[in-house]
Amino acid sequence: MAEGHGRGFTTEILHSDRLGGPIEHGALHKPVHGSVAYGFDTAEMLAAVFQGTEKGFSYSRSGNPTVEALEAKVTAMEGGVGTVAFATGMAAIGSILFSLLRQGDHFLSSSFLFGNTNSLFQSFAGQGIDVSFVDATAVGAVEAALRPETRMVFVETIANPRTQIADLEAIGALCAERGIVFVVDNTMTSPWLFQPKAVGAHLVVNALTKYIGGHGAALGGSVTDTGLFPWDRYPHIFDAYRSAPPARQALTQLRKKGLRDFGASLAPEAAHTLALGAETLALRLDRACANAAALAAQLQAHPAVRRVYHPSLADHPQHDRAAKLFRHSGALLSFELDPREDLFAFCNRLTLAVNSTNLGDNRTLIIPVAHTIYFEMGAERRAAMGISEGLLRVSVGIEDQEDLLNDFAASLAALKF
Ligand SMILES: *Cc1c(COP(=O)(O)O)cnc(C)c1O
Repeated sequence: MAEGHGRGFTTEILHSDRLGGPIEHGALHKPVHGSVAYGFDTAEMLAAVFQGTEKGFSYSRSGNPTVEALEAKVTAMEGGVGTVAFATGMAAIGSILFSLLRQGDHFLSSSFLFGNTNSLFQSFAGQGIDVSFVDATAVGAVEAALRPETRMVFVETIANPRTQIADLEAIGALCAERGIVFVVDNTMTSPWLFQPKAVGAHLVVNALTKYIGGHGAALGGSVTDTGLFPWDRYPHIFDAYRSAPPARQALTQLRKKGLRDFGASLAPEAAHTLALGAETLALRLDRACANAAALAAQLQAHPAVRRVYHPSLADHPQHDRAAKLFRHSGALLSFELDPREDLFAFCNRLTLAVNSTNLGDNRTLIIPVAHTIYFEMGAERRAAMGISEGLLRVSVGIEDQEDLLNDFAASLAALKF
């Protein structure tokens, strides 16, 4: 993102509100605008804003100045042409399908997927939008599953919880060649570790709730258009939005369908909290990733630990891909203990790592995934996703590294087998 202004990643975020336009009273942060509706001096101006011939805000469900300031930051971080923010990461993903796919369409998804995204895709399958799940770590499986009616391919960068890494470059090239929309969920890497635009992604999803917000204090999601897809050739853009430049057509439709019609809008208070978090994304993630790599190495060295999954490890199947594409290997890892060990007891002995489902918090969080987030889908589907019954996921935080390693060392020392 440095190219545009010659400024670095953190500098750009820190100064974007102040330099992005006039701010009341010289405030260094974009103020929280709580007004639901906006008034105009003339009815003509009101009509012009509704018709899109003048820029402005009419009703906060469709757009809000505080939310817009956050959208500008995400656009800059991702090197995109524009961003629409949503109430949650799930609302962002759901709005892409709701806004841009129609009955009879088919899309492909990586089978290594955040659990709720998997569940969401199954719901759309019941509404006449067909989905196939494929092993996206190699482009061959993706190519083999394409159909004439395939409109979209959806992958995560580093999959949660097993940390498989999609064949991002090859899938991007395939989608470009076939004119298929390539959607990349960048939540696990965030734009500090990776810009999906570099591999040809057309739409980039971020669960702002996670690393960008960082403090586990607000929910939010976003979709950024990288400007690489020729939307003027996409059949499902409504005529009303064809007057926008091609690079803005999908964003306009996402805003109209996902926010105005479906109401998946981000609250301005949450946007403010997330924008504060974004200022320290790079600092926090550097530290959390270093902690994660150190913890992965410590776990791997212990005899009672069967497998450790983290892209920093030399035996990770996509270790080289991660090293080539990402700044660091991410701050999430998972591991399996000897199946005779009591998983819950291992978690309960930890004093710093919290039993909690979130990820991307500043605090280290641990969760037995088969019993919680992947419980509803059943053992068969878990097995297909490579999730063993004994898998523990750790979202590594920014604690002082020695404290974190000591916490895990103490619980490992009490293992029996
Ligand atoms: C958490 C998460 C989401 C959903 O984000 P929410 O803000 O919790 O709705 C989507 N994708 C990935 C990879 C996630 O980790």
